[in-house]
Amino acid sequence: MKIALAGIGKIALDQHVPALAASPDWTLAATLSRHGRVEGVPAFADIDAMLAAHPDIGAVSLCLPPVPRFDAAQAVLRAGRHLMLEKPPGATLAEVHALQAMAADAGVTIFATWHSRMALGVAAARDWLAGRRVTGGRITWREDVRHWHPGQDWIFEAGGMGVFDPGINALSILTHILPTPARLTAAELDIPANRQAPIAARLDFAGGITADLDFRQQGPQTWDIALETDGGRLALSQGGNLLEIDDRPVQGRGGIAGEYPALYARMADLVARGASDVDLAPMVLVADAFTLGRRATVASFDF
Ligand code: NAP
Repeated sequence: MKIALAGIGKIALDQHVPALAASPDWTLAATLSRHGRVEGVPAFADIDAMLAAHPDIGAVSLCLPPVPRFDAAQAVLRAGRHLMLEKPPGATLAEVHALQAMAADAGVTIFATWHSRMALGVAAARDWLAGRRVTGGRITWREDVRHWHPGQDWIFEAGGMGVFDPGINALSILTHILPTPARLTAAELDIPANRQAPIAARLDFAGGITADLDFRQQGPQTWDIALETDGGRLALSQGGNLLEIDDRPVQGRGGIAGEYPALYARMADLVARGASDVDLAPMVLVADAFTLGRRATVASFDF
């Protein structure tokens, strides 16, 4: 099936374009972006023009930042095309509920992706935790925003989510593998004096799980989840790509290379089955952190 990619920025070029090029299911047939281009692919700056010019394009994958994404998403669904959304699926929960309803009315697929759930150790972690009781745990998600999000001022604007942009990846794994729903009980948000969104956050969940999210990490980068249970210890590292049980490696290897091919394979499967997949649990936890969180103003941040 032909697909269009919208928002040709870092993640589109780093992951989506190579995943589509290698996919047996999809052909990248157009792009939508004001500045970004993919060599050899017809480029558009207006989504309605792109959809009108290409009735053969059955699906559109949106890689825009969350705030400008809703209008484009509505245009895709109004045109009766299948819709795939980068994480987080929108700027607000209500937006995504509205898109879900539109997709159902139009009889098309909507897939709110969580790429970290496709990491190599995640499915095995979920299987291992089933039937066990989690007694505590710690998420450590610390990365250098200057390296991974160079010049992306939108990430620190209202709706950009700040450190929750990567932090929601940890929450997407947590909500997928825990045998019972995660519930946030407290949060502290560090917001730079010149910005609207947090550069660091500390979270507490019911049941003794904590999270330490930080965008200011220099040196080695950390994307780890450690959980204790009544039947042993689980550790997911490298963003969910390496699973260890009681300190012994069980599954996985480094890198996120397989996550995006797996997302596009799942999208193809959803379309083939006439199904949709929208799980807002990670985004609910972020919204709750903004609702409950105590704010501290910290040093200004510039790229
Ligand atoms: P990015 O490099 O800033 O790219 C987003 C693109 O969207 C921009 O290049 C821009 O292209 C377009 N755009 C349209 N309206 C915009 C606006 N109002 N403000 C800024 N850009 C706008 O961002 P990204 O890192 O690719 O992230 C995009 C989405 O992917 C986010 O939801 C993010 O959470 C997710 N994601 C990112 C990563 C990562 O490592 N960076 C990993 C996984 C997922 P034009 O100027 O050409 O229109």
